[in-house]
Amino acid sequence: MNFNTKLLHDGVKKEPNGATFPPIFQSSAFAQESAEDLAGIFENKKMGYCYTRVANPTVSSFEERITKLEGGIGSVACASGMAALSMALLNILEAGDEIISSASLYGGSIDLFRDIEAFGIKTKYVKNNDWEEIEAAFNERTKVVFAETIGNPCLDVTDVDRLAKIAHSHGVPLIIDNTTATPYLIRVLDHGADIVVNSSSKYINGSSNSISGVLTDSGHFKWTKERYPVLGEYIKYGPFAYISKMRSGLYRNIGTCLSPFNAYLNVLGLETLGLRMDKQCSNALKLASWLQETYSDIQVNYPGLESSNWHTIANTILKNGYGAILTIRTGSKKRAFEIMNKLTIPYILSNIGDTKTLVVHPSSTISLHSTQKELEDAGVYDDLIRISVGIEDVEDIIEDFRNAIS
Ligand SMILES: *Cc1c(COP(=O)(O)O)cnc(C)c1O
Repeated sequence: MNFNTKLLHDGVKKEPNGATFPPIFQSSAFAQESAEDLAGIFENKKMGYCYTRVANPTVSSFEERITKLEGGIGSVACASGMAALSMALLNILEAGDEIISSASLYGGSIDLFRDIEAFGIKTKYVKNNDWEEIEAAFNERTKVVFAETIGNPCLDVTDVDRLAKIAHSHGVPLIIDNTTATPYLIRVLDHGADIVVNSSSKYINGSSNSISGVLTDSGHFKWTKERYPVLGEYIKYGPFAYISKMRSGLYRNIGTCLSPFNAYLNVLGLETLGLRMDKQCSNALKLASWLQETYSDIQVNYPGLESSNWHTIANTILKNGYGAILTIRTGSKKRAFEIMNKLTIPYILSNIGDTKTLVVHPSSTISLHSTQKELEDAGVYDDLIRISVGIEDVEDIIEDFRNAIS
């Protein structure tokens, strides 16, 4: 099946009463016929649901569709993208371990990596695609390599295939945050990544009506007792070691479950992911090209432009488009604020992946807690506006920018 057909027909569970769309099982717990049945579910010997913090039928409907879409063996949906990211990493890390991460990360992820230093987990940041620096960062405590496919808001593009090869040559998995690219542009598990994390609050949900995140395991990584003692008894499940430990361990015990209602909204959004991404990527390319051609005093950063340092790698690994986020440097913070305030269509807010066009000034908002070095690495400047392009008619967006800038 091709992408849009898959969204509608792949991984689609048979729902009760012939329902063509997952019903919302807004129930905290699920009764069984007998004490034996309930015991069987707790022992993982019987299929079924017991408590929504562990699993829920509506949430499973969402997870199963994502698993098929990403080409993995299992997914776990969480209350937020940050929860999914925390789970993805903490499932295999313990005190003393190190993460190697691309430096151009989403601000919230940098904040998270700082928070988990309190648990003895250190992060070494390396420039994306700087292979020498990446090789040099490994040691015996390295347990995972992490990167974003398209850095937010740096918009650098990771060579996922090459990074996966390097991680594997050191015996560690690659975890990719694919939020900004979505599986519409790249299925990172097909490119060697072992686990993919999506903040489904963004493009997957599409209309910004619920916060959520989801992680998917490829099942390809060979976990060993020696390198990953935290996986303990789960090692015996082979390809399912990672996902079973997650479901029965931290996910359940920290309590990061997704609400059934939000899972329902995500399935609703997911079905139109391809249509929206197609329009959003095409709008972003048109807006970026127009801004670059029209204004010599505005610097445009978009992987779809030949002027981007990451255009070549984007052409190699991305399909269907270059994403729907661009950034512009306006010359000063004052001018950036003035342009934002004069725009009438885009919302001023810190989010991406909405059907509507959004603008934000990262250095005074999402990157407020970053150090100078982190700002430089993330490509955040005082005069920079990030634009998340929506599905509006692009002529209207262009006209609005023309008026605001003049
Ligand atoms: C938004 C975002 C997150 C965090 O997701 P939430 O759903 O807001 O918790 C993580 N990574 C990237 C790239 C994001 O854009």
